[in-house]
Amino acid sequence: MVRMNEWLVPSKSTINRITLIMFALLFTSNICHVTNGNSTNDQDDVHLDHQSRKDYTNHSVVKISETNIHLLFEPRNSSNDHSEHEILWFDNVDRNAYVRLGPNATARVKRDIHRTGNPIFLTSNLQSWIDAEQGLNNNHNNIVHRTRPQSSSSFPTFDDMIEEDSVGTTIRNVDPLMPEESHRSRIIRTFILNQYYPLSKVYQFLDDIEDRTNGITVFTIGHTHEGRPIKAIEILNNPSDGRFIWIDACTHAREWVTVTTALYLIEQTIVHKVPMNFIIVPVLNVDGYVYTWEKDRMWRKNRRPYSASRLAVHNMPDRCNGVDLNRNYDINFGGEGSSSSPCSYLYQGPHPFSEPEVKAVSDLLAKNRHRIKMTLSLHSFNQLWASPNAFTTARTKDHEHHMRVLKAVQQAVASTNGVTYEIGPLGASLYLGSGFMMDWIYHKLGIRDAYLVELRDKGYHGFVLPAKYIWPTATETWAGLRAAIRMIFNV
Ligand SMILES: [Zn+2]
Repeated sequence: MVRMNEWLVPSKSTINRITLIMFALLFTSNICHVTNGNSTNDQDDVHLDHQSRKDYTNHSVVKISETNIHLLFEPRNSSNDHSEHEILWFDNVDRNAYVRLGPNATARVKRDIHRTGNPIFLTSNLQSWIDAEQGLNNNHNNIVHRTRPQSSSSFPTFDDMIEEDSVGTTIRNVDPLMPEESHRSRIIRTFILNQYYPLSKVYQFLDDIEDRTNGITVFTIGHTHEGRPIKAIEILNNPSDGRFIWIDACTHAREWVTVTTALYLIEQTIVHKVPMNFIIVPVLNVDGYVYTWEKDRMWRKNRRPYSASRLAVHNMPDRCNGVDLNRNYDINFGGEGSSSSPCSYLYQGPHPFSEPEVKAVSDLLAKNRHRIKMTLSLHSFNQLWASPNAFTTARTKDHEHHMRVLKAVQQAVASTNGVTYEIGPLGASLYLGSGFMMDWIYHKLGIRDAYLVELRDKGYHGFVLPAKYIWPTATETWAGLRAAIRMIFNV
């Protein structure tokens, strides 16, 4: 039997000593340094009314060939405003990039469509997608009226196509992106699983489960930069067996479907009494997740402010918020697919384990590395189940084993809702990234079965995935997890 407090004792591992040495070395490099966390002069909030959320009206999402992506952007000397464009995703299969453009960039690209690489507009009004998502949360039974995007007739958008689909058929009385039915938790009957929830509701669900179920403990693994607890749920379905499976979600704040999926996995592992023990963290990047609900739906990193050297990033603001928590682990730190600029959405942090969220998780995993036999990190989007390595295209010594597991996963996922996810080592399948949690777990902790899944979709809605997809995403991920457990543990 594992007791809760065993997970909480700070680790004295060599990893911490290495961290201290790395900290000492890197802190002298003068690339960037930590600023006072309470400062209010926040560059990220330039476009924010402090009482309201960032408005993405007239921001567009476009799809463009990777080779033409530079044509979208202004020449260097006029591109100071980094809120005007953001690369959301690269599709390495069809060699396209998905890019968010601010209102000015949108107007410029539309005006000069041929000279800017002929991008395809998926939406001209990202805010309409966010509004639809929010509307579902405010009242599940209300009809949600989506704002018609302001696009010129010569540039049809994805939203326009949806509108046109309905012309001449029937007038819909429900939003096409709204779930057709509500799926209630079998443990907490008032809780609807296919709906997005703010942090307080997520944590309430964990506490309610703990109150009503035996063998469940909710505990805090550590605190965020802004002082919020990072909560985990321990599910002891097989207390006499010391083996655990670790699952984390929402390392990247805007990946909301990872949270709803994690809640469904919690529900299913309890209801179906899967004979394994689990530690599940449904929201790892707690500050970032709260920020996506209260300020900026498209936020990715944590919220810790850092100063940037003017010399290193001369055309960027002096100060930016946030470290990419999946670039902050001690594995090929600072290598390809990460950034040393605090203003980059891939900022790796000043040194490995610099962020309190990553420190909390890595301490717990390191201390319990002999008990944790499998890990799964939930991300979105891309529809891919992946294994190490992320930092190199080189194969690991366990490649054949990983692929056997992933093939079983792929089959189970596809047979659930008919959607086939890609499988493979992350670096060779999708993109290279350094400082990844999955790679660190595999290489530094020696846990063979470390995986990462990129959930739905393939880029149309991306991070702003409509609520109607919460349920299929959750159910197929559960099927994949169940198949992996069967394959690895034979249970
Ligand atoms: Zn992610």
